[in-house]
Amino acid sequence: MRFFIKNYGCQMNSYDSQRITDILAHAGHEIANSSEAANIVVLNTCSIREKVDEKIFSDLGRIREMKKEYAKDFIIVVAGCMAQTRSSDILRRAPYVDVILGPHNIHQLAKIIDKIVNSKSSDVVMSTAANVGSKFPQSSDMLFERGVSEFITIQEGCNNFCSYCIVPYTRGREFSRSVLDIRTEIKNLVSLGVKEITLLGQNVNSYEGVGLDGKRCSFSRLLFELANISGLKRLCYMTSNPKDVNLDIAIAHKEIKILTPSLHLPVQSGSDSVLKRMNRRYTTDEYARRVEMLRAHRPDLALSSDFIVGFPGESDADFQQTLELVKNIGYAQAYSFKYSPRKGTAAAQMDNQIPENVKSERLRTLQNLLDNQQSRFNQNFIGQHVNVLFTKKGKHEKQLTGRSEYSQSVSVATGVAMGTIAKVKITEVASHSLIGVVVP
Ligand code: SF4
Repeated sequence: MRFFIKNYGCQMNSYDSQRITDILAHAGHEIANSSEAANIVVLNTCSIREKVDEKIFSDLGRIREMKKEYAKDFIIVVAGCMAQTRSSDILRRAPYVDVILGPHNIHQLAKIIDKIVNSKSSDVVMSTAANVGSKFPQSSDMLFERGVSEFITIQEGCNNFCSYCIVPYTRGREFSRSVLDIRTEIKNLVSLGVKEITLLGQNVNSYEGVGLDGKRCSFSRLLFELANISGLKRLCYMTSNPKDVNLDIAIAHKEIKILTPSLHLPVQSGSDSVLKRMNRRYTTDEYARRVEMLRAHRPDLALSSDFIVGFPGESDADFQQTLELVKNIGYAQAYSFKYSPRKGTAAAQMDNQIPENVKSERLRTLQNLLDNQQSRFNQNFIGQHVNVLFTKKGKHEKQLTGRSEYSQSVSVATGVAMGTIAKVKITEVASHSLIGVVVP
C-alpha cells in the first residue's frame, strides 16, 4: 500500500512522523507525496489548542470523501496527541476512521494495518496505552533517508502540570531514554549523512536516563556523552524548563565545541503573580539569575523564549512587567501567543479571563518589542562571520538557505553545496533573517 503522513504541531510530532515513516517503509509500504496518491492516510495530530482540533476534524471530512472512492482498501489513521485525549470524540464525529493511535503506540502501526488488511474487519482499532519506551527504534531498525539536520526525542512526557498546558495529559509522565539508545540512534543517523542533531523533550533539561555505567545520567552528563560522536558537527536541544537550568548545563555550554550557542528558554510571563498562577515554579528573579549564569559561561549565547499574553487575571501592571523583563534579558528571537483556554486544564476554569481585544493589543505591543530586539541582535552581525549549515533552497533562484550556530536563518547566492557547513560573512539584515557571502 501507499502511505501519506500529515504532521501537525511540534518537533516531537515531526520526530514521531519520521518514526512512522521508518516503520511503514520497513514493512514494505511505499511513501506517497500526497493524500490523494495514498491509500493509507495518517494524521499525526496536535492538541495544543482547541482550534487545531477543529482543523483536524475538517481535514478528516475531506479524507472521508477519498475513502468513499476506495471503499475497503483505504485506511485512515488518527495518531498523536488528539488521538490520546479525544478518542471518544473521534469515534463519535468521524466513525469512518480505522485506527486511533496514541503517541506512545506508533510502533504498533504496521502490525495493526496487516491485521486490518487480512481480516477485512471494519472495527475501529484503538491503541493508546503502551508504555512510551517501546516506541523508539531498536539498534537494528532500518532508518529511512534523512536530511542533514534531524530531531531525536530523548525525553517524553511532563510532570509539571503548568495550569494552561494539555501536554501532561497527552504525553503522560516524564520518561528518559538510556544514553546507549540515544547514542546508537545518533550514530545511525550520522552514518546516513546527518550533521546536526536537535535533542527533543517537553522538559529536555530534566532528562534523567540510564547512563553507560548503568547509573543515573543527568542532562549535562548526557551532553558530554554525545559530544564525542564522530561525524556529528552540531548538537542543539529544546525545550528547556527554566526551573531545571543548573551550573553543569552552563559548563557544558562553555566546554562542548559542537553544542550550539543558541538556547530556547520559555519564560512565558514577566510577572511573578502570573507565573504562580501558571504553576511555572520559578520567579522572574530566579530566571534572570540563571540567564546571567549561562551567559557568564557562554557570553555569545543567543537566547530565545515563549510568551503568553492575556493569561487569566493578567493586569496592565503584570503585562508591563513582561515588557520590562524582555528589555532586561534581551532576546535573539521569541514566540508569543495570546492565552487560549484549553478544556481539561486548570487555567480554563480560572476567573478573570481577559477580553480578546485586550489580548490582541498586548500581543501587538510585545511582538513589536521582540521584533526590534531580534533586528538589533541581527544588526550586530553585519561584517561578522557565522557558520551556516545549508539545508534548503532559498527564496530566490540560485540561493541557498541554512541556519547559523545562533539559529539565525542565513541565505547566500550559490557557491556552496547543500548539506555543508560553511563560513559566511554577513552583509545584510532582512526581516527575521540574514544575507551573506561565503568566505573560503
Ligand atoms: S513544562 Fe509546562 S508547558 Fe511545558 S510541557 Fe510541561 S506542563 Fe506543558
